[in-house]
Amino acid sequence: MILVFKHFFYKNYVGLSLWPFIILKEDALKADEVLINHERIHLKQQRELLILPFYLWYVAEWLFRTILYLDSYRAYQNISFEREAYANEKDMHYPSKRKTFGFLQYLTR
Ligand SMILES: [Zn+2]
Repeated sequence: MILVFKHFFYKNYVGLSLWPFIILKEDALKADEVLINHERIHLKQQRELLILPFYLWYVAEWLFRTILYLDSYRAYQNISFEREAYANEKDMHYPSKRKTFGFLQYLTR
């Protein structure tokens, strides 16, 4: 289910997923298939980790990588969940065909 909240977003971010919802900054973004697909991949990741552990892992990996790279944006881009979502967001069939815990193969590269 897709919701729109204009005043919910930090900096350039325009979408996020909070299972079972995809939240967008603007109505027009509903037409952005790649963005929606990216968020659908996150919903799959969240569900397979039973939601709460996803967020804990996400923040822990972001903190670890921020220390590693000394660059919080680069850290965000390299979180395994984001690597999987960015690498496959243009493949519209990816959310239905990906293997469970598919993000694990993006932990190291
Ligand atoms: Zn993402």
